[in-house]
Amino acid sequence: MTDQYDVIVLGAGPAGYVAAIRCAQLGLKTACVEKWLNKSEKPALGGTCLNVGCIPSKALLEATELYHEAKHGFEELGITCSDIKLDVPKMIARKDKIVAELTGGIEALFKANGIDWLVGAGTVLADKNVRVTAHDGSASNHTAKNIIIATGSVPIELPITPLHSDIVVDSAGALDWEAVPGKVCVIGAGIIGLELGSVWRRLGSEVVLLEAMDSFLPMVDAQIAKDAMRTFTKQGLDIQLSARVTGSTVNGKKVTVSYQNSDGEQSMEVDKLIVAVGRRAFVHDVLTDDAGVGLDERGLIHVNNSCETNVPGIYAIGDVVRGPMLAHKGSEEGVMVAEIIAGETSSVNYDVMPNVIYTHPEVAWVGKTEEQLKAEGVDYQAGTFPFAASGRAKAKGDTGGMVKVLRDKKTDRMLGAHVIGPSASELLGQSVLAMEFDATIEDIAHTIHAHPTLSEAMHEAALSADGRAIHIANRKPR
Ligand code: FAD
Ligand code: NAD
Repeated sequence: MTDQYDVIVLGAGPAGYVAAIRCAQLGLKTACVEKWLNKSEKPALGGTCLNVGCIPSKALLEATELYHEAKHGFEELGITCSDIKLDVPKMIARKDKIVAELTGGIEALFKANGIDWLVGAGTVLADKNVRVTAHDGSASNHTAKNIIIATGSVPIELPITPLHSDIVVDSAGALDWEAVPGKVCVIGAGIIGLELGSVWRRLGSEVVLLEAMDSFLPMVDAQIAKDAMRTFTKQGLDIQLSARVTGSTVNGKKVTVSYQNSDGEQSMEVDKLIVAVGRRAFVHDVLTDDAGVGLDERGLIHVNNSCETNVPGIYAIGDVVRGPMLAHKGSEEGVMVAEIIAGETSSVNYDVMPNVIYTHPEVAWVGKTEEQLKAEGVDYQAGTFPFAASGRAKAKGDTGGMVKVLRDKKTDRMLGAHVIGPSASELLGQSVLAMEFDATIEDIAHTIHAHPTLSEAMHEAALSADGRAIHIANRKPR
């Protein structure tokens, strides 16, 4: 059977499902091919993000933070909790319920928008034909005027530490343990390592992160990264830099991890090992040679600024193309491509891309770091404000961290904003908007912020950029 569509999207992660919905909104006859099978072996939409990524990890981060607070933070607020019990299977079941509700929600949105979900694995053939191979092995062919490839990414596996049942796992496996392991080792102190390491640390595991590089979070502003390292270490995350893992051996229910650091060969025995060394674009069996779509030197699908591949009418978005592997980046590319296909003008502003690490405190940033500005020779000025001086942070009993804004000395434009502290992810929003609107620091200084809110810290940081902060002693008052 051959169906003709205006658009066929391959993959229904946050890049693909958003692209499909926007295409349908614009009146394009749209199909989306998705092969994902959930824990119950049922087809599911939502991709990595909804099934084993952003959402389940945040469900566990929220629950474990509350557990940790109840155990260790409530006393100071005058609340005595005795007999706090932990029910890990219930926590995992709640996470699975949230995932099921959200992935079911995407299915409902597909129906409401008239999008055909072609269940199975899609392969792009010549002349914009797509073969869909269903889970029972049967195949069907479909053609489209346009194709959007959004097949995402998968965890990088280390051949020296092969995955082994629930003992040596990738990020997805570390979301499903139903008992708290005694000792966990994480390979990679990147975003996944820190988020999932925090989950199990808060529940009581001893957590060691082995990081091959000699620097911690090199993409984060150095002052913020230093603060983060100090805070996470205080929380009991044992972050070891310059520690390159060389292998692992499973012995019964334990695993021995060997690694090299400046003192030479080391090894440790742990209950669980999480491999969190990055993700790679997923293009396996997605493209045939006849499709003619080119890859770049890193194995990502090569695209231009409009996410169009070298084949006109074939686009690629999300983790399968260059740029940060973030859900919102893929979604914005999905909207852009749908609008371009519908004949509209559309673009993505890659310079204003929010980033968040959902630890506690959260780390969030947008734009340039001080190190990048120095390297580029930009004449900038930094303004900072510590949460220790925020009335709201004090009331919350959560005073760690700071806000930092960076302004161009000549134009007063905001060049970057960096937050480590309570609700940093939500606080960052106003800086993202400010940068998108090309606002000056003076615009933020002029904006009235409700009192008492955490957002006042952003206001004060903007004021402090030229010595006008009210609630800290300024170096050079204007
Ligand atoms: P994916 O979400 O990977 O979706 C691709 C889809 O394509 C999959 O469903 C796959 O089954 C399907 N597919 C592949 N090949 C085919 C084929 N041939 N035919 C049909 N379907 C196919 N990002 C954030 O922004 N914020 C976060 O908090 C965050 N947390 C994360 C936590 C974890 C533990 C992980 C692993 C990732 C996290 N990410 C987060 C990253 C985020 O999940 C990805 O950037 C995002 O999912 C990429 O979206 P995508 O649509 O490009 O790809
Ligand atoms: P990452 O790139 O953030 O971190 C991987 C780390 O592993 C790096 O620091 C790397 O130096 C280290 N490493 C690599 N090989 C090693 C080895 N042999 N021994 C020790 N260390 C080694 O990747 P990740 O944490 O796996 O996350 C993958 C992607 O998912 C990221 O690009 C991220 O953008 C995305 N993600 C985003 C969020 C979020 O937005 N909050 C959350 C999770 C994941």
